Amino acid sequence: MEKNKYGKIVDFVHMLINTSYGGKKNLQLVDATCGNGFDTLFLSKIAGTTGHVTAFDIQNQAIERTQSLLESSIDYINYKIIKDSHEKINIYIKDKIDIAIFNLGYLPFSDKKITTNPDITCLAIKNLLPLLNNDGRIFITTYIYHDNGQEINEINSFLKKLNKSNYNVINVKLINKENYPPELFIIEKNA
Ligand code: SAM
Repeated sequence: MEKNKYGKIVDFVHMLINTSYGGKKNLQLVDATCGNGFDTLFLSKIAGTTGHVTAFDIQNQAIERTQSLLESSIDYINYKIIKDSHEKINIYIKDKIDIAIFNLGYLPFSDKKITTNPDITCLAIKNLLPLLNNDGRIFITTYIYHDNGQEINEINSFLKKLNKSNYNVINVKLINKENYPPELFIIEKNA
């Protein structure tokens, strides 16, 4: 049986990225919320030795966990892990990027009161858009629990207003599950 399931949004994001970008050279990738490092590790493997990943988080614990996961999992260094807030992305990245991932909410196995913030997340997305390559995409996995859906709603309103000639915005959600499963937004350039 297939290990990854479309219904597990994190797996779904990885499957989409693998299909569209796997094997490409010189990819510039961003993990906007590195947390425990699983997405950063995935992106590092996709980037391989020709590409690069820049990862952000505001918590020391997340930076340390990500650093340690990558050091123990891959034997090349194609990543930079930055302790700063993701809306400041343009300070650190000047080149065009192919993919950015946001996995929102709180850091699992840590202080659940430290969460992503809807205004900051929307600002980070806004700052990322001009950096996107023509084949670039932003993947945003959102959750309801940390703020009763405020972040999902703000992101939804913000993304609905993105220029329809320049961007396609896709929304994926499970409609037959209780307990508010995560919801995915994808922004792609309509170049
Ligand atoms: N992608 C991670 C992984 O693979 O383990 C999980 C990310 S976790 C759900 C959300 C993370 O967002 C937390 O580690 C939290 O510290 C981080 N975060 C919250 N606000 C942030 C901000 N303004 N900039 C960057 N990271 C932020």
